[in-house]
Amino acid sequence: MISVETVANSAYIVAALLFILALGGLAEHRTAKMGNTFGISGMAVALGATIALAIGRDIEPLGLLLLAGATALGAAIGLWRARIVEMTGMPELIALLHSFVGLAAVLVGWNGYLHVERHPGGADAELLRAEGLLGIHGAEVAIGVFIGAVTFTGSIVAFLKLSARMNSAPLMLPGKNILNVGSLVLFAVLTVWFVVDPRLWTLVAITVVALLLGWHLVVSIGGGDMPVVVSMLNSYSGWAAAASGFLLGNDLLIITGALVGSSGAYLSYIMCKAMNRSFLSVIAGGFGITAGPAGDTDLGEHREVTADAVAELLTGANSVIITPGYGMAVAQAQHGVAELTRKLRERGVTVRFGVHPVAGRLPGHMNVLLAEAKVPYDIVLEMDEINDDFTGTDVVLVIGANDTVNPAAAEDPASPIAGMPVLTVWEAGNVIVFKRSMASGYAGVQNPLFFRENSAMLFGDAKDRVEDIVKAL
Ligand code: NDP
Repeated sequence: MISVETVANSAYIVAALLFILALGGLAEHRTAKMGNTFGISGMAVALGATIALAIGRDIEPLGLLLLAGATALGAAIGLWRARIVEMTGMPELIALLHSFVGLAAVLVGWNGYLHVERHPGGADAELLRAEGLLGIHGAEVAIGVFIGAVTFTGSIVAFLKLSARMNSAPLMLPGKNILNVGSLVLFAVLTVWFVVDPRLWTLVAITVVALLLGWHLVVSIGGGDMPVVVSMLNSYSGWAAAASGFLLGNDLLIITGALVGSSGAYLSYIMCKAMNRSFLSVIAGGFGITAGPAGDTDLGEHREVTADAVAELLTGANSVIITPGYGMAVAQAQHGVAELTRKLRERGVTVRFGVHPVAGRLPGHMNVLLAEAKVPYDIVLEMDEINDDFTGTDVVLVIGANDTVNPAAAEDPASPIAGMPVLTVWEAGNVIVFKRSMASGYAGVQNPLFFRENSAMLFGDAKDRVEDIVKAL
């Protein structure tokens, strides 16, 4: 008779393949929905196989009850959060979910310790000793707890920063790099110690060092570098899951963790390239970056404009570029923007979009919103594809973007976002900035664009102002 282990292991391979197909699907707009379906199916198969495995191994009634309760509770919370989350709240939700993965890895590590190292004479410990794997188990516990705890506090800080419950400015503790490197060295020493002599205090020390390091790594990263932090924590959560997989002897968890870990690391690399940051400097917690002034320099007077005047300007334009940012997502202005685009194109105006790789609060945030509003893909261009075309463009509409169009990044070496490539909107004939006030963007840096001679501010909610222009047209 085929054992439940064989069936579960086969199901795990199917689930792993479905996860790989999900990643492939999510790489493009057109196939993203299918990718999600693969991911959901893979998770359903994995969950079913895990539950079947537990039942097949004669789980005690209390264990079964806990398993059913945890599954039902997790599913209910997941469904509830996913239904009510706003698009603008996605990054913080993702950060929170990463923190759960980290916490789970810490608990799995501690559970491993309580079963094996804490009971050196117990059956589990005897089995590992006979196979000569007791030391390996100790190392797995220490590493799993460490990665999990770093992910846990790091993700909590990211959640607090992204949801504006905590200041996004970097905390610059004296000797911060020494603190980071020192923690890693301490972790290595404690791990060796734990493997040789697994004591409770050593694991407590490893957990505390890792919790503090996770907190410090993310708290010392400035607002502008947060995109990399989100993808980096995504990667950490994958490695934390893989570490738990080793401890639990679960191949699927190892494969899934490695997939998430490596794809998160690759995404972090892409984001760093887009922001002209060194990968190492960001993962080391903003190594070598010193916070510049938050912008109390007097940049002169800004000019205001009305929606009617913008409509008139657009009527006389041949070419228009729209650069959307986080404010478009907050205002949910994408449908109005799509309508405006359609109206202008009907009048023969060339309209294109310039999308910065870190615009919004999620990789691909603007592309998702524009696709949702049915803006044709072929007029939505990446920064590199459009940056040379601002010269010679009549009007640029900056809709709720700020940091991603800030000339200080290109012109002020003292700026905290210095060196980050930006959309060079100021090279166009006229720049209209849609926002509600003169407040700074996510990085907390003042924007000299607003004070340029060819710039004018159109104040108010972006959705309302875009609709006003559509009406006036
Ligand atoms: P910013 O966050 O720099 O600026 C958004 C602007 O939108 C604000 O200045 C705000 O001004 C305006 N705004 C907010 N609500 C409205 C509204 N209802 N109507 C009109 N305007 C509004 O946006 P960008 O997209 O240019 O830059 C993204 C920033 O976020 C970068 O610093 C990036 O590093 C960071 N980030 C990006 C992530 C990603 O993965 N893409 C993840 C995490 C952070 P006002 O309040 O005056 O209206």
